[in-house]
Parts: sequence; C-alpha cells; structure tokens
Amino acid sequence: MRKLAAGNWKMNGVLADLTEIANIAQTHPEPSVDILICPPATLIAPAVAMSGPIAIGAQDCHAADQGAHTGDISAKQICDVGACYVITGHSERRQDHGETDAQIHDKTRAAHYAGLIAIICIGETLDERNSGATLDVLGKQLAGSVPSTATAQNTVIAYEPVWAIGTGLIPTIDQITETHDFIRATVQQRFGSQAIEMRLLYGGSVKGSNAAEIFAVPNVDGALVGGASLKAQDFGPIIRALENA
Ligand code: PEP
Repeated sequence: MRKLAAGNWKMNGVLADLTEIANIAQTHPEPSVDILICPPATLIAPAVAMSGPIAIGAQDCHAADQGAHTGDISAKQICDVGACYVITGHSERRQDHGETDAQIHDKTRAAHYAGLIAIICIGETLDERNSGATLDVLGKQLAGSVPSTATAQNTVIAYEPVWAIGTGLIPTIDQITETHDFIRATVQQRFGSQAIEMRLLYGGSVKGSNAAEIFAVPNVDGALVGGASLKAQDFGPIIRALENA
C-alpha cells in the first residue's frame, strides 16, 4: 500500500498560490508516497494542469451527477477536470452545512461511481471524547457514511478528532493507536481482508514537528493536513516524515 500525504486547503488560496504546488512537485519529483492537494474548487483545473506527480482533489461533491443544485459541483465534474480524489464528510461540512452520515454516504457513492477516490472523514467532538463515547461515535459514522461500494482502492478513511482540527491539540499516541486499531477492525469486519489495504489517515494539527511520531503508529497510513499543507515549506517535512516512516 502506498501511504498518502493529503493537504486540504479549505477556503484558502488564489491562482498565485499554485506556486506552492509547483514547489512541492519540484522537491518531490518521484515521491515514494502519494501526495495530494485538495485546493478550493476554483483552483482544481489550473492545479491539475501543473501538478506533475502531485494528485489533485476536491473538498466536497454533490450526490447527484448534474441538475438544479446551485453552487454545488458533482463528482463527475471533478473527475472531468482531471482530479482523482474528493474529501467527503469533513467536520466543517458536518458542522457548517449540517451534513449527515446519510448524505455523506450518498456523496461518497457518487464519488465511487464517477471513478474518484473518496477520503471519508470521521471524528468525535471534545464532549464526545470526554464522555467516553469516541468509539461509539466513530462506529456510527463508519456504519452510516461508508457505502457498500467502498474498496481499499477507492476509499480512504481519515480519523480527524474535531477538537484537534486547527487547534494545535493532538490526541496522545495511545489515543491515536486505539482509534486507528478500532477503525481497521471495523472496516475489516465489514469488507473482509481487503480492508487491510484501505488507507487510514490521521488528521488534526499535524506538523513537521509531530509527524514522525504519528506516522510510527500502526494503522496510520498517512495524514490529512489542513493549515500545514498551505505552504510547501511546511508540507515538505510532513511528506518526508511519511516517506521515512
Ligand atoms: C483538516 O481540516 O482536515 C485539518 C486536519 O486541519 P489542521 O491540520 O489545520 O488541523
């Protein structure tokens, strides 16, 4: 399995920032891990045109192929401009747009039908962790948002504790180990032995300074990175840590 260093630019970046992708491509001409940047929708097509060995993805898609859905983009349209991944169920979509597991399930299935690799995000809030509900929450999110079309090739699961996103806080290594072992066991129970090869990413305040420790955890096959993916000088050390893991 090739590990994955994925960057989520969120609502950041204009055309001038594509130089960051060019810099990553230049410093990693033949990466030994998969590298992905998910820029805002406005930058997907121009990013694809100059990304070299870096894969480009979207941050969300609609569940339908086309139609009267103002402001949305479909998995088919994402694929059409040469992107090959889409993030579904990011906690900011769940929180800001009220996305449910059922909607994330349908978006992810649409991504699979379109030929995209879906990165399905799951994660508990701080209240849920403090009340001991973390594994229950993750179990429900996995059951509700991962469609039966999922395979090790077309699906990546990102464990992103909501309280660790953009906060500088990260779970302990024991907590990451526990959740990733749980996610692996859950997908294996549902999809059988092929799920050993399904990539499981950790996300939440990953930086060059903590990446190596996180990547040493069994069942962590890479990272989904927000803030530290915006600049090549910050993302580069995370990619190198993954290559060395
Ligand atoms: C994210 O938004 O997916 C994320 C992990 O953000 P950050 O790395 O900034 O915590």
